[in-house]
Amino acid sequence: MSSPAANKELDASAQILRLAVPQMSALDIPVTPENYTVWYEYFAQSNLDLNRAIDGFLANNVVFTKEVNTSLYKNFIQEKSPEVIENVQIETQILINSLISKITQLNQGTEAFSNTLADFGLQLQSSPDVNTLNQLVDGVIDEMQNLLVNNQTMEQSLNAMGQEVQNLKTEMENLSLAAMTDQLTSLHNRRAYEIAIQDHIHRAEEQHTRCSLLLIDIDRFKVFNDTYGHQVGDKVLAYVALALKQCVRGDDFVARYGGEEFVVLLPNTHFHDALQVAETLRGRISERRLAIGKDKKLSLGAITVSIGLASLQKGDDAETLFSRADKALYEAKSDGRNCVRG
Ligand code: GH3
Ligand code: MG
Ligand code: MG
Repeated sequence: MSSPAANKELDASAQILRLAVPQMSALDIPVTPENYTVWYEYFAQSNLDLNRAIDGFLANNVVFTKEVNTSLYKNFIQEKSPEVIENVQIETQILINSLISKITQLNQGTEAFSNTLADFGLQLQSSPDVNTLNQLVDGVIDEMQNLLVNNQTMEQSLNAMGQEVQNLKTEMENLSLAAMTDQLTSLHNRRAYEIAIQDHIHRAEEQHTRCSLLLIDIDRFKVFNDTYGHQVGDKVLAYVALALKQCVRGDDFVARYGGEEFVVLLPNTHFHDALQVAETLRGRISERRLAIGKDKKLSLGAITVSIGLASLQKGDDAETLFSRADKALYEAKSDGRNCVRG
């Protein structure tokens, strides 16, 4: 974030934040990520329909209730321009970090200033007893007290703003965590995988190590859904997710890639070792019998997975690596399922 263009962008979003937060406060609108995105867009003036709607509300003194705020977000941001959400959030997060450090510095500055003034006041109060000097001293003390009060108010408003911004930052972080997590299994989701794979490849190249990728697909999953319903299907997914998570090492990365497909990234692991990991996973998943229903009487039989394995080679990128694992998975399926190919 040091290029002139990036700084310009940062200045622009700082300017918007300066306008948006006080306006939101004045209208009693909580500074949540959703509301902030709405008002960011309003001040950015990049969404004409949204500006028209808000201007209409303002002109008619509409109260910005929770419902009004939600409808603005839903109708103008979430549905019309979903890509805005991520942009605003990324920009704002960067901005918030720099703002918080500025507020901290500023706070320290005003505090020091107040302390100096207070010290000076004390010194004057205990100074010689000449009448005129006393009067002067009174005046100076008055003035200083005003200054102190002003400073305190300024500090309070900075603190309040700092607190609001801090809350917003926390919520933004939670939001981005949620955006990277699969709700059903609590594993990382595909988006998180896309980021992690780049990182793994980069690190493997830098450290001259090998990483491996497992692509795992539940066998005949459609049958579970069709026979027992979606809810049981979901349980099977959660079961496989848990088994994967429990079987791998702490620095391995497990994600639900989509539907009934999972990926496991094994850093610092050559083909041969990865094959062993895959075999362990496959065996572990198939050996348990999942039972459901009242008293766990209904056994689902064996749940099996097929696994495609690929290890990073020179010249690989995320796509070539994935596509090799995908081909291997296809082989595993054609070879009768419940097996590993690579
Ligand atoms: P194969 O052994 O060849 O992989 O067969 P399959 O039945 O597992 O594969 P197929 O791709 O035909 O079916 C996958 C099914 O997964 C279809 C889809 O309805 C189901 N599915 C995808 N996402 C979910 C989900 O979140 N919950 C449930 N219950 N089912 C899902
Ligand atoms: Mg599949
Ligand atoms: Mg499948």
